[in-house]
Amino acid sequence: MPELIEAEMYRRALDPLRGAEITSVELLDEAYVRPSGVSTSDVHSIVGSTLLSTRRHGKLVLLDLGHGSDRRSIGLHFGMTGRLFVDGAGPIDALVYSSERKDEAWDRVRIHFGQHTLAVNDPRRLGALHLDPADDHLGPDAASITPAALERVVRGKTAAIKATLLNQRRIAGLGNLLGDEILWRASIRPDRESGQLSEQEVEVLAHVIVETIGELTARGGSHTGDTFEHRQLGGRCPRDDAEMHRLTVGGRTSWFCSAHQQ
Ligand SMILES: [Zn+2]
Repeated sequence: MPELIEAEMYRRALDPLRGAEITSVELLDEAYVRPSGVSTSDVHSIVGSTLLSTRRHGKLVLLDLGHGSDRRSIGLHFGMTGRLFVDGAGPIDALVYSSERKDEAWDRVRIHFGQHTLAVNDPRRLGALHLDPADDHLGPDAASITPAALERVVRGKTAAIKATLLNQRRIAGLGNLLGDEILWRASIRPDRESGQLSEQEVEVLAHVIVETIGELTARGGSHTGDTFEHRQLGGRCPRDDAEMHRLTVGGRTSWFCSAHQQ
């Protein structure tokens, strides 16, 4: 958390600011800026720019800025606990793994657009503000992945499929919760070798990725999956009542059904 779904909610929350001019920047945590070594004055150089448009690639939210003929961009990455607030209101009330409380001491940066304020609040400060980020290292966006694109992602890869799905360079936007929910829906064990999936499984998986993102977006977030409350010892699969098992894949705890996921 936050995963692609939450990043998209943050991007949409910025829409009312389009066309507005940045009037000041409060950089409250210099270590939050990437790449490291970017000076405070570099960050303040965005003052006077107008927010032209917003984009999202995977979990990265991009703000395109214009100042005369100059074009710049800001990338916001929310790490494990980052949240975005516009005028003190967040599009997501309670982010799992994050305190529900908004303590202004955790504000890392505030960007003022006249009377409006964008604040990035991040208790564990694993997120970052990137100046003029490149996003060409990211794989195709998960929300619109096609079977053909997913086939290119997995074919020949020896990594476990769960690790491949969470590798942002392979496919961008999925985190631990979406990864487990998608593999559960697609009936695939998280530790299956990526390159060993059949073409048919890859096709199903691509459709499940897109459908799951759409469905959980409508429900309100990555934590609204069918398996979410069964991700615990003694948990049972909501489809067939078999025991939920866990193992560590790619350094992340993965929950899966001991019966129908193969
Ligand atoms: Zn099951």
